[in-house]
This record gives sequence, structure tokens and C-alpha cells, in this order.
Amino acid sequence: MTTIKLHNTKTRKKEVFAPLDPDNVRMYVCGPTVYDRAHLGNARPVVVFDVLYRLLRHVYGSDHVTYVRNFTDVDDKINARAAESGRAIGDITDETIQWFLDDMGALGALEPNAAPRATAYIPQMVAMIEGLIAKGHAYAAEGHVLFAVESYAAYGALSGRTVDDMIAGARVEVAPYKRNPMDFVLWKPSSGDQPGWDSPWGYGRPGWHIECSAMAYELLGENFDIHGGGNDLMFPHHENEIAQSCCAHPEGGFAQMWMHNEMLQVEGKKMSKSLGNFFTVHDLLEQGVPGEVIRFVFLSTHYRKPMDWTAEKAREAEKTLRKWFILTEGVTAEPTLDFKIIEALSDDLNTHSALTALNKMASQPEHLKSGMRLLGFPDAENVDWFRDRTITLYGVSVSGDTSLAAAQNLLTPVLEKWQSARDSKDYNTADDIRDRLKAAGVEIKPMAEGPLATIPYNVDIRDVVKALK
Ligand code: AMP
Ligand code: ZN
Repeated sequence: MTTIKLHNTKTRKKEVFAPLDPDNVRMYVCGPTVYDRAHLGNARPVVVFDVLYRLLRHVYGSDHVTYVRNFTDVDDKINARAAESGRAIGDITDETIQWFLDDMGALGALEPNAAPRATAYIPQMVAMIEGLIAKGHAYAAEGHVLFAVESYAAYGALSGRTVDDMIAGARVEVAPYKRNPMDFVLWKPSSGDQPGWDSPWGYGRPGWHIECSAMAYELLGENFDIHGGGNDLMFPHHENEIAQSCCAHPEGGFAQMWMHNEMLQVEGKKMSKSLGNFFTVHDLLEQGVPGEVIRFVFLSTHYRKPMDWTAEKAREAEKTLRKWFILTEGVTAEPTLDFKIIEALSDDLNTHSALTALNKMASQPEHLKSGMRLLGFPDAENVDWFRDRTITLYGVSVSGDTSLAAAQNLLTPVLEKWQSARDSKDYNTADDIRDRLKAAGVEIKPMAEGPLATIPYNVDIRDVVKALK
């Protein structure tokens, strides 16, 4: 069997992955808080852990992997969105969940085996909190329940911090009901329009962290193989998940391996609303960037490195994918995968080197096709953007392909000549140009913005121009 090695944040080492139960490999990944469209950064963990899910399914069998990713549908950001829009919380979360699934589907992400919503697991959270209180790891105060960090000696081990460092470095909320400023909320009171449930501590709602501990326990058990998320979640969210779960079920040990993806940036800068470089996955798709191009750009950087989204990378990705789709259209995929792809992915998900290996497979399109499938790219038969290149005279370049730019340079004078012949009603000249282009494989159409030329991908534009001379 293939040996998979993964970098474990907990030990800071690349380790051989040995599942607790090879018949049921279990993975939990923290999902989105659902109040708005996913931005491009939110898609990074989705694509990274989708590749891992596909690799695990390939190695252990598709019926032997359980992947859980939650939806945080109770959160103060959601409450604020409901208050400002006057809409019901349930409408906002339902709509946002569907957007998320549609956008991630466009990036080729498989849906996890379970996608639990936090609000469907309130009794399980309450039970876990009761257990923590009974064992002395949590205490109720003024309608709140807090986790007592001092009761868990290993608190901070994942991110390598001590409680004193955390107090010194973090902006912790000091509250009169906290015994230690680092103690974090398991349950808090609700009033007015805030969502709430009855509990032994009064009407209220859970803190954020407890949902992942409760849902992971319910759906995967007291221990499981891999826990993933962005590295912005390592502290405090993941430290808190560990503290809750390991204190509630000390015999289990919670996640064996922790994996964290690095953050996404845009043109070298942090993605943020104030810098004006903030965009959603949906924005890009609407602009005509195919989902598989976004996926390719993501996979070209290793998940543990910061990744920079640039328009140039998207153009390069489109060019490479166009070539791969042309090579693999109509080809039957090889049932056995080329070893180099598996080897690359098994080395801590080295997707960059998997893409490089695929790019060397032009002479074996059956292998290329099976490798593309493993990486989650669609079959060429299900994609259409790569087939034709279209250009318009008045400069809208549909693709950044350099051959398109060349086409634009070479064809523009011809299109201009056609347009001016039509404008002066010299239909003999206009029809002659149109017929000769047609014979060379290029269609032209008059459009409001100017002539539109469609060049099939297998037509070399230089031959077209030669035919016109
Ligand atoms: P949130 O909805 O903010 O809790 O984030 C959902 C997921 O997206 C988490 O796994 C985050 O770590 C991840 N995430 C948020 N921003 C970025 C970013 N800029 N780059 C990569 N991952 C991110
Ligand atoms: Zn979580």
C-alpha cells in the first residue's frame, strides 16, 4: 500500500500516516461561518482538503474514508447580518450554505460525507459542557459557562504557547465572571432577537469552539485521524477544541494529526476589504474565470506556503489546462494511475510537483487524464471553454492566452478592413474577407461592439493570415 506522509502541526514533523482504522479513515475540517459569500481565501482549505480526501479515497477505498466539515450557523456575525438586513437568521444561513456548496462545487470540491450545522447539535454540546463541569474543567458564572484553561496542563501545546505568553500577547476579553483571563466561553446567555436554547445555565447559545468538539465526537468518535483548517484557526480555535475534547474524553486523544493550510494573498498583499483587493469565489466565476483554473492556481502552491493569487497565474493556469483538455478530449483514462502523481501527493500533498509531472505527460494522454481526475479536474468532455478562442475588434480579450494575443494582433487589421468595407457598403470586399476567413476555419460576426471572430482551438492563426494574402 502507498505510504502517505503528512506534516503534523502537533509534532511539527512530517510523519507517516497510519490510520487508527484503515477501514474507516476519519477527517474533520473546520468549515465556514455562514453569513456571506465565501471569499477566495475561504476556498483554499476546501481545495487543499479535497485533494487529501481524494488521495485517501484512492489509497484506502472510497467507502473507507469519512470526511466531516461543519457549517457554523450560530455566530454573532450572523446575528448582526440578520439585524441589519431585517431577514430571518435561517434564511441567511440557508442561502449562504447553498452559495458555498455551489461555489465550491465549481472548484471541483467533492461534498464531504457529512456537513453538519452547529444548530443541529445543541443537545450534544450541552451534554459535553455538562461533562466538563462535572470533571472540574469548566464552571458556570452569570449565565455563562467557561472552560478553565488552568485545568488542562497541555493547553497551548499545538501552537507552542504557554498560558502566560497568551495572556501577554493576546487581546483577551477580561470579564468579571472569568477566573483566568484566558478562560473561554462554552455557553453564553441570549436575549431579545439573539438565537437561543434552554439549558441548565438558562436560555442561551454556545460559544464557537464547542461545536467542533461536539460534532467531531458525535460523527467521528473520541479519536480520529486528521483535523484540518487554516492556520489562522490554530490559536485559539484549535487549542480550545483540543482542550474541550481531551478533557471530555481523555482516553480518546482527539485528532492524531493536525494539518493547517497557509493563508491566501492577492498580488502580494493581504486580502482585505479596505485594500480593495477583496473578492469572492463567485465574483471570479462571474468574471468568467473557470473554476478549474482557480483550482489549478491553488494547487500550484504547496498548502503550507502562503499563496499569492495573481492574474498572471490565472492566465498561465488557463493556458496549461487548455493544452491538457485538448490532449485528453476523447481519450480513455488509464485505470492505473501514473506512480509519479501518487508519489508527489503522498509527500505531504506536493500538488506543485504533481502538476509538474502531469505537464510532462503530453505523450501519454491516458495517464494525463487519470492524473487530472485524481487532482479533481473535470474531464475535457464536460468543459467547453477551452475549445474556441473568441476575440473582438474592440479589444475585449476573453483569455490571456499568448496565442490569443497573437491572434488579436494578426487579425485586427483584417477585421478592421471587413468593418470598413461593410460601413461603406462595399459588400463584395466584405463577403470576400468573410468567405476566406471561413475557409480558413474562422467565423466572423457583426456585433454591436464590433466584429467578433471565433477561432477554433486547433486552427493556427498564422495559417489563417497566410490564407488571406
Ligand atoms: P471563517 O469563515 O473565517 O471561519 O473561515 C473558514 C475557513 O477559511 C477557515 O478554515 C479559515 O482558516 C479559512 N481562511 C480564511 N481566510 C483565509 C485566507 N486568506 N487564506 C486561506 N484560508 C483562509
Ligand atoms: Zn473547528
